Amino acid sequence: MQQEGLLLVISGPSGAGKGTVCKALLQEVKDLRYSVSVTTRKPRAGEQHGVNYFFTSVEEFEEMIKNDQLLEWAKVYDNYYGTPKDFVIETIKSGQDVILEIDVNGAKQIFKNFPNGVFIFLLPPSMEELCNRIYKRGTETKDIIEKRLAAAQGEIEQLENYNYVVLNDEVENAVNKIKAIIIAEKCKVNRN
Ligand code: 5GP
Repeated sequence: MQQEGLLLVISGPSGAGKGTVCKALLQEVKDLRYSVSVTTRKPRAGEQHGVNYFFTSVEEFEEMIKNDQLLEWAKVYDNYYGTPKDFVIETIKSGQDVILEIDVNGAKQIFKNFPNGVFIFLLPPSMEELCNRIYKRGTETKDIIEKRLAAAQGEIEQLENYNYVVLNDEVENAVNKIKAIIIAEKCKVNRN
């Protein structure tokens, strides 16, 4: 029987560098697939529909919830975010690994259905560094930045629900650690 692919979940506070780390990881691990989420948030400069997110209206998102098209969903900082179900299920069934970059509430929902998932929490080096990263990004208003910083503390407290914690001091270090986690998970006895 073909072995299912790994379902990797990566969470961490806004500014931990999840996007950067995932991008670098996907460039290095060629057969790893990225789960593109659906969101009602407006696109930031440079973001592309179908690449970074599927940008949608609140009505369409609520329709997806009703039709059971999402594996998990959450309201994060006043916007809806969710993981399209079919893509993730088909990818792991085909034996390919998939990575979901989602918040702590979404991760909890995934854990209920996929306890064998690999849950990774990405940490910024310090709260100070977290503030710098969010401010430096310059894509959010002051009000949104404050909301994100306030939420970060609560997210860090969810760390115990994860299998691994990776410190993102340098992108290359974080990527290497996640690559090592993937290798270790594949070597596990009785994985599925
Ligand atoms: P951002 O607006 O910065 O792209 O993402 C905000 C937060 O939403 C991040 O913590 C990100 O991980 C989370 N997020 C992105 N996609 C999803 C998703 O599909 N489900 C859930 N639950 N959270 C998501």
